[in-house]
Parts: sequence; structure tokens; C-alpha cells
Amino acid sequence: MTKFSDLNLNPKVLKAIEEAGYETPTPIQAGAIPPALEGRDVLGIAQTGTGKTAGFVLPMITMLARGRARARMPRSLVLCPTRELAAQVAENFDTYAKHVKLTKALLIGGVSFKEQDLLIDKGVDVLIATPGRLLDHFERGKLILSDVKVMVVDEADRMLDMGFIPDIEKIFGLTPFTRQTLFFSATMASEIERITNTFLSNPARIEVARQATASETIEQGVVVFRASRRDREGSEKRQVLRMMIDAEGDKCTNAIIFCNRKMDVDTVAKSLKKYGYDAAPIHGDLDQSQRTRTLDGFRNGELRFLVASDVAARGLDVPAVSHVFNFDVPSHAEDYVHRIGRTGRAGRSGKAMMICAAKDEKNLEAIEKLIQREIPRLENPMGTITASAEDTVAPREEKKPSRSRNRIRRSGPAQDEVKEAPSETAPVQASAEEVKATDPVQQPTVRETDDQRDPAPRGRDNYRSGTQQRGRGSDNSKILGMGDHMPSFIALSFDERRTS
Ligand code: AMP
Repeated sequence: MTKFSDLNLNPKVLKAIEEAGYETPTPIQAGAIPPALEGRDVLGIAQTGTGKTAGFVLPMITMLARGRARARMPRSLVLCPTRELAAQVAENFDTYAKHVKLTKALLIGGVSFKEQDLLIDKGVDVLIATPGRLLDHFERGKLILSDVKVMVVDEADRMLDMGFIPDIEKIFGLTPFTRQTLFFSATMASEIERITNTFLSNPARIEVARQATASETIEQGVVVFRASRRDREGSEKRQVLRMMIDAEGDKCTNAIIFCNRKMDVDTVAKSLKKYGYDAAPIHGDLDQSQRTRTLDGFRNGELRFLVASDVAARGLDVPAVSHVFNFDVPSHAEDYVHRIGRTGRAGRSGKAMMICAAKDEKNLEAIEKLIQREIPRLENPMGTITASAEDTVAPREEKKPSRSRNRIRRSGPAQDEVKEAPSETAPVQASAEEVKATDPVQQPTVRETDDQRDPAPRGRDNYRSGTQQRGRGSDNSKILGMGDHMPSFIALSFDERRTS
């Protein structure tokens, strides 16, 4: 087995690795470090959790240990898609370069330009940046990129998702043609392939097993969830989440809860807090100091629940996360793998649970196809919800809710969500009036709400009750209640033109 000492790393770097407690290089490290130290371009196809950060940081420190940076001319550049990832890469430099004299600057949004300018002016060996902020500095004339010897692109696939590829291409164009490029991506979409073909020169290609097949230490499960009414979906889902957390008890030391939308990140965090759970949100719209504080709190165990969007949590390295809850099924199957990869790290066990609403079933299928296994179905902690016959006929999530058609009956007692949003969470037991509206005996075949939304074809009038026909001004059919023997005068019109 390869050892770090076999890799030609600077002895001071080896000392720092030993102090960090790492014994053997991970496959991406063993594969990427030797060609990187030879000065070759590297194309690393690896996800977070594989040790890829050290895969580029260790050779960079070794190579940069000799020489000095000139004012405003960084010697190396690391581009990351998010501020958190950039901060994490900076931490890696701190860990592994502690016995080497290296200067670095972190250029991320949400931090004042002035401080960053001061560092750049002095000259830095390593510049770690998000693409937008780097270009801002460049356009302000504060930065010269012609001395960049090594350029790293980290999480290129996420850069693509976030629309950063034009920025990346621009930055490639601003650095010298002779630079060395270390390029990392979890997947090789065609656009990524194009970039690597254009900007990398005969790279050493190292591909490590996709996390999708390597997450054996993670116990997975999904609750297939049906809201009792569409307008209750959010609050009932939040209730299911709380029940899932409660059911885990002390086994859940901490958790990341993923939502698909920033708005839901805020709502879920707020709701959990309201119910006494120690939770805080993290997403791209929060200011940087708040994001850093939340993340630090989660890392050092002060915060138990981190409610996150994909972008904010992507690549976050928190070594001991006991649980991941997917409040929403991610719409990109790949994201599921990234999300659950936040738990079960470094050989630890972890649990990943998801809530799947009816509209998310296609996405669930896509995930199961990707990971090539079925995610075990968990019992809905709210109890069995039985949809009425009508509910099973049409996908009502897409339609406007109506009092009668969306009502469903549930076997368990009414739930306690009432506290959270009384208007949308009234107890589930139907009132006498509501029962009447749905009782198949009292109102046999009327699909009233369909007709109200969307006028039915004429032929269907035959199936309506008399009340409905009169209400709609029907003029061409029988009057109900008269049977077949309708006195002829009733059919006479009072229209003068016809009587004259
Ligand atoms: P990354 O994929 O770079 O986000 O790293 C994932 C985790 O693996 C981090 O917590 C690293 O500290 C850890 N790590 C990196 N290299 C090694 C190694 N050689 N052995 C064990 N853990 C490592």
C-alpha cells in the first residue's frame, strides 16, 4: 500500500500530515499527488469525502515551498464554487502548511475588499477564491494573474450548475499558458469535458469510485408521505420531520436537514426552532458572517441541526454528522449522493432519511436508479393516511384544492400541528358538514369541484344533479323531480318573440 512518505512530498508537509493523524493516502491522493509533483496537469474525477482537497493542497505546498510571491502577483490560484468550500480549502492550507512559510489570501464575497486588497498587495503564494470575487478584484486592477504557476479548479461540476463556467474560462485566459492545472469534478458532463479538452494539456486522469457505490456505511430510508390536504403539505411534512427526529432520540447527535429551496430552508429552520429544536439555516442569501457563525457552531457541536440548501452544504466537511434528513427529495439524483455523503464519513456509520411527497416520486425513482438499489420504505410516523377513492383517481396536487375532493380520512388521531399554523392545520377530523360533502351515500356521483373549475363538456350535464343544472342555466334537458311526465306548459317559453 502506498504511504505518504512514498509520494515525494516536502518533509515539513509530511510532518503536518502525521500531526493531522493521517496515515495512508486515499486513492485520489495516491493517484493525483505524483503527477502533480511532476508538474503535469491532473484531471481528478472524485467527489467530496474522498480526500481530494489534500490531493491538490499537499503537492501545491511542496511545490510552492520554494520561491516567493511578488506584490499583487499570486503564484497559485484555487477556484471554488462556494464561499464555504473556499474557506475549507484555506483551512486545509493552514493544517498542512503549518511548518512551511506560505502566505495565502481568501477572496470571497461578503468580506470587505479593503482587507483582501491589503493581503494581495503584500504578495500571496496561494489565492483561494470564488470566480466572481476574483474577477471583481481583477477588474479593479488590483490583481495580476500573469505569475500564476498552478491553477486549481475544484468542484467543476458545481461551477457548471451555478453558471460559473464563463467566468472560469475567462480566468483561464488571464493566467499564463504555461501554468499547471489541477482540475477536479465529481462528474464529467459534456460541458466539463469541453473545458478540460480546451484548457488542460495531456492531463493525468484519476477517477475514484463514485460515492454512489461507496456509501455502504449509510443506512437509508424514505417515508412516502401524503398530505391530508395540499395546503397542509408543508406543515404536515414539518411534523413528519419532527417525528422522525424524535424517533431517532439520542442516536441523532446532530443532523443536516436538506431542503430544495432557500425559502423552505428558512421555514423549516424557523419551525424547528419554534418547537424547541436547536436549528439554524444556511443558504446563499444569508450574509457571510452569519453563514460562518452557523457553520462553526455546527462543526464544534454547539448547534444540533443545520438546515441547508445544496449549494451551501456542498462539500462541507463536518467529520461527525450522525444523520441527514432530506426534507425534500432532491431534483437531481446526484445531489442525493452528495447530501447523504455528509454522514457516514471516514468509516463512521450514518443514517440518511428522506420524506417523499407524491409529486417527488419520479425523482425518487431516478435516485434509486442512480444508486442501483431500492431505498427502504419507512413507516410514516404520522400514521397511515388513506386516500379516499377520489384521491386515488386524479393527481390532485396539480389542481386547485377544493374542500370536498381533497379531504381524506386518516386512521390515527388528529395530530398536533395546530400549534404551528392554526389556519392550515386544523384537526383532521372532518366536521359534520364536511362529512356530508364527501359522504358517498349522501352525494353519490357529483364531481362538483371539477365542474366548477373547468366547465365540463355538454354531454356530461346528464350526470349532474338538478341543483347544478339550474345553477348553470341549463336549458335543454329534463327538469329533475318531474320524472318522465313533465306537464307540457312547463316547457313553454316566456320569450315574447316565440309566443307571438
Ligand atoms: P475532502 O474530500 O477533501 O473533502 O476530504 C474529506 C475528509 O477526509 C476530510 O475530513 C479530510 O480531513 C479527510 N482526509 C483527507 N485525507 C485523508 C487521509 N489520507 N486519511 C484519512 N482521512 C483523510
